[in-house]
Amino acid sequence: MEPNIINRDQHPVSRTQMSLEVLKVLYRLHGTGHLAYLCGGGVRDLLLGREIDDYDVATDAEPKRLKEVFGNCRLVGRRFRIAHIIFSGGKIIEVSTFRRQGDEDDLGENQTNSLLIKRDNTFGSPADDAFRRDFTINALYYNIADFSIIDYVGGREDLRSQLIRSIGDPDIRFQEDPIRILRGIRLAAALGFEVEESTWEAMKRQRHHILECAVSRIREEIMKILRRQASHVGFQLLIRAGILEILFPQLEESRLPPSERKTIAEESILQHLAALEDLRVRDTELSDSVLLATLTAVPAKELLETLPPDQDVGKSLHEYLEANFKPLAFPRIVRSRVHLLHLALRHMLAEQRRKRRRSLRRSPIFVDALKLLEIHCLATNQQWSVLRRWQNPPVQGKKRRAKTRVLKSKRNS
Ligand code: ATP
Ligand code: MG
Repeated sequence: MEPNIINRDQHPVSRTQMSLEVLKVLYRLHGTGHLAYLCGGGVRDLLLGREIDDYDVATDAEPKRLKEVFGNCRLVGRRFRIAHIIFSGGKIIEVSTFRRQGDEDDLGENQTNSLLIKRDNTFGSPADDAFRRDFTINALYYNIADFSIIDYVGGREDLRSQLIRSIGDPDIRFQEDPIRILRGIRLAAALGFEVEESTWEAMKRQRHHILECAVSRIREEIMKILRRQASHVGFQLLIRAGILEILFPQLEESRLPPSERKTIAEESILQHLAALEDLRVRDTELSDSVLLATLTAVPAKELLETLPPDQDVGKSLHEYLEANFKPLAFPRIVRSRVHLLHLALRHMLAEQRRKRRRSLRRSPIFVDALKLLEIHCLATNQQWSVLRRWQNPPVQGKKRRAKTRVLKSKRNS
């Protein structure tokens, strides 16, 4: 299979965009007679002029050989051994040997689908390595030998057209490893790209296979969508593909009449997620608990508001949140913080006595609770005065302190 070679004068990727560490790894491999390619998301992001957070290197050197070439090398991975080249300061560059289809690590646990890839440790050619990857824009290589970009799958063109396109038959690729569906949606949201039509149709058709993946992989993808920019776009795609109802069946359930139920709940969930962007542009740090509380803010508030008086609020909320977050095994500490945040939001939105306000202000979740309140105000455009009251330290407290100071100075004089 002949790739399309894009020479250095036909693409903008420059070594000055790359870290010193990755250049050292590429040059060492090249200098010891091996193929040395920067690959995966790194090349994609460099071509888009985006910042890179992790570099992946692909080579024809096998793991044993990598141990010889690099002193600072640790082999990781259960079946398919990947080399971590460790630099001072803890920076790690991941180097993997070209491999062919069927070598993904950590696939699903309950293998009910016959296409799900069986693990196998087979090295391959650069072409094999390109075709085993998920999307065309993720399968470009930058060759340190002549600074060219190697494209086996039409990734450069799709990058130009801003398209997420599966490599090969999308139905088969998604059945082999259904996590690719979530990866594709995450990429589309993060880059602001469209999902190519046949890839999109296959995502919808194969969505039921997602639950065959290890829950840790699903959870990590969901968190990556929530943590990065445009999470509302990601969730809009999850809703449109019918995936949200598979992953979080409880999220859209509400007490509204069935005809209005889904759309209203979905819209307000997306409005809450869109509010996250306002905080992100101000570089506000958003903890996983705040993100998950934002995701469940609408149904949780509705649940608490419509609870019959004899029902235990804490217990009902706990049951609701567990139904959402336990199936994907979100850590217990995060689940209990989300619970506390919902209770705090409820408390903040209700007029409360000053004493109880003071105790919430001193609570370790107060900073996060304030963020959740701001997200609520941004999403609903209501109750801004409540937010201001909680953001500003109580004036009366100041007055009282000033009074005490006057009294003290009188006593001392
Ligand atoms: P980011 O690091 O921004 O999340 P990425 O594309 O670099 O995006 P990684 O998880 O770092 O994602 O994976 C590196 C590369 O490995 C991808 O670009 C892709 O080529 C390949 N890859 C990762 N996961 C899969 C998968 N499930 N199936 C096929 N190829 C995959
Ligand atoms: Mg990456």
